[in-house]
Order: sequence, then C-alpha cells, then structure tokens
Amino acid sequence: MLIGLAKRALFETDKRLLWKLAWNMGWKGFRSIQKHKKRLRNGRFFPPYLYISIVNSCNLRCQGCWVDVAHKQHTIDVPALNRMIDTAKKQGNAFFGILGGEPFMHKGLFDVLEAHPNVYFQVFTNGHFITDEVAKRLRKCGNVTPLISIEGSELISDQRRGKSSVFEQSMTGVKNCVKNKVMTGVCTSLCQSNFDDLLNEAWIDRLVDLGVLYTWFHIYRPVGPQPTPELALTQAQQRQAREFVVNMRCKKPIIIIDAYYDANGEALCPAATGFTHHINPWGGIEPCPIIQFAKESIHDARPLDEVFNESSYLSDFRELAAKHTRGCIALERPDLIESLVARHGAEDNTARKTALAELKAANVYPSQYMPDQTPIPEKSWLYRVAKKIAFHEYGVYTKHFKIENWQDPMAAEKKQDALIQIHSKEPAASNK
Ligand code: SF4
Repeated sequence: MLIGLAKRALFETDKRLLWKLAWNMGWKGFRSIQKHKKRLRNGRFFPPYLYISIVNSCNLRCQGCWVDVAHKQHTIDVPALNRMIDTAKKQGNAFFGILGGEPFMHKGLFDVLEAHPNVYFQVFTNGHFITDEVAKRLRKCGNVTPLISIEGSELISDQRRGKSSVFEQSMTGVKNCVKNKVMTGVCTSLCQSNFDDLLNEAWIDRLVDLGVLYTWFHIYRPVGPQPTPELALTQAQQRQAREFVVNMRCKKPIIIIDAYYDANGEALCPAATGFTHHINPWGGIEPCPIIQFAKESIHDARPLDEVFNESSYLSDFRELAAKHTRGCIALERPDLIESLVARHGAEDNTARKTALAELKAANVYPSQYMPDQTPIPEKSWLYRVAKKIAFHEYGVYTKHFKIENWQDPMAAEKKQDALIQIHSKEPAASNK
C-alpha cells in the first residue's frame, strides 16, 4: 500500500500542492496539536480543528440534512471569517474544515482561501459548482482540498439528495479537480441505501482509478427536520464498516479517513475530546454540527480564544459526553443533550426553530461505541502513528468515562429479541 501511495504522490500530484499539504496540513498540523496539548496542560482550551459552516444554502435537499438549506440565505461574511481564522492561527491552528450548506455558494469563499495561504482548508462540498475554471482557481490557491460527497449510485444519489443527475454532477466536479491536479477527496455518509453499493473494494478501486487521493466514510446521523430513521445503520454494519476501513488501509493506495476510533480501535467522539467544535452560518459556537444549540458566538465582543476558553456550556458538553459514552451522545443519549441545553439556557441556533422539538422526539441509535465487542485496532503502522500523535482521547475518557454510566441504546431492542426468543421456544398453546 505504501509504495502505491508514494507512487501516486510522486506521479499524480502537483508538487507545489503536495508541499503545501505536507507543510501546512502535515507539519503545521502536528505543531497545532502540540500547542493544543500544551494549552490543556496549562488549563486552557481552544480546539485545534474548527468546523466552519459558512453558508446555509444548498442546491440539494438531502435526507437527514440538519442545515436549513431552504431558508433565507445566511453567511458568515469574509471579514468575520478572516478574523476568526486569524485568531485561530494565533493559537497555532493550521487546518480548517469549511462546510455549509454548499460552501461554493458563498461568494467570498475564494477571498478567504486566498487570504490565508499559510494554512490548509478542507471544503466539504457536493462538487456541483466545481467547474474546470473553479478547479483551476483551487489549484492556484494550493492550500485547499475539496472533499466531494457521493451518496450512492446514480439512482440512490437522486433519491438521497432530492434532485436529479446528482451523481453525474458530483463526478464532473471530481473529474475537474483531478484534471487540474487538485488534492481531491470523496466522502460518503454510509446508510442503508448506499451501504452495499459503496462499502466495497470495487468502489475504492474506482476512486483510485479516478485519481482521488483520499476517502472518508461517515456514519449516517438520522437528525434534523427529516431524520429518515430507516437509513440508520445497525451496530453490526458500523462494525463491518470499521473492519473494512482497517483492512483497506493496508491494501489500497488511497488514504482513508475516519473520525470515530483511535489507534487501538477504541471509540471516541471528536467533539467530546475537544479536538473540534462547530461554527454555524449565524456564527453560533456549537459542540458539533448536529447539536444545533449555542451559548456563545464568534460575533461576541470578547476575543474568540477567550470565548472558547471560558465556555462552561462547551466544557460541560465535553465532560457530559465523555462521562456517559465513548460513542456519539447525539445518537445514544439525546436526553442528556436536552438537559445540557436547559441547564445552560443554550439557544436553538436553527432558522427553523424546531431543534428542541426534534431533540425531544429523537429516537436512540447505536453508534461507534460497542463495549460488548473487542475493538478493531489499526493494522497499518502509518495510521497507528498518525492517530497516536493527533487523534486520540486527550485524556477525557480516562478522566470521566465509567462503563456503569453507559446506557446501551440497543437495550430495549435486545430485550425484545430475548423475549421473542423465549416465546419462540415455548410450545404453542394449542399443543398444551
Ligand atoms: S456528538 Fe456524534 S456527531 Fe457529534 S462529533 Fe460526536 S460523534 Fe460526531
């Protein structure tokens, strides 16, 4: 795998872009982690990686989308974005996630990318606005990687994303990026309708043939105004996805990202560990993109680093999540988020103003934490080292987590199954 990956890096990439990735994301990313650890040792907090949703609008209407894409457009303006990024850079941050809605619908996106050549941006996009011209401009920037979402085959993509020819348009975006030697990734939110289509070797091989350099399999979160719960994955499927990713990392010349497990395969939540938090298009500071409640904003008068450091809402979220699960508190324990929001008087930061009702009505689902199963550790030394350095618990579970606090989201279902088992063994009443 490593030789294949090295060959691809050598022969398929623009060396200036490869250098920018290695220096801004690689070396400076490593430095930002060291600075984060030092802040934590000194009792201060500022997340080393910010997810920033710069606009709510989008041209698609995906199942399970929590962003108010159909509402009046709202953006974080360029001066506010630059101020936020400058403050984060002073903390040593060098890597930023840019989300939406659809980020390419923000007219000032390139102004921001071009204003910060010494850091690296990952833009989460559906790829529909990436023309050849846009791809050329991304190459000129050199400090940005588009992560293009593909949610299934042609048919499933249209179904999942509520528009037609979605797959083709995303693929055109991918091809424009690859043709212009932009560092390109493809991501999928694994769910019932695309699990078999995309979680297989043939799809990975297709991405490699297309010239895609990395891929990321998220696990579908049934949240928002149309959560579509039937798309949620079972615990067994989430484990299968973990196994597949670990094996493909040793086999395929492509980088495969995940945000749920450390080097030993222990589950974690990147918001609970403080690795990242989210800024919504209205500037609200949220624990993560799907927990749409905020107490603070980037527009507060205080400097952003003070806002993060002094937020009892965010620190309480991290402790609460780490105390009750190593998995996803949003899937497993929406009741705890409801009490957190009430305790801090955090505001519903959606335009639709139904986030609290959605939380109250939310079901519970299995997540990446499966204490009754043995963790699946990284097999590839490269991922083991990378995760040991940057992607681990940062001490939060060691400090807070107790298995007795964990509530099995499957408990009710398992009890039901056990009862069915018992009854199925009982001789039929008529035989009595
Ligand atoms: S709460 Fe869930 S969705 Fe949010 S960052 Fe944690 S694992 Fe991810």
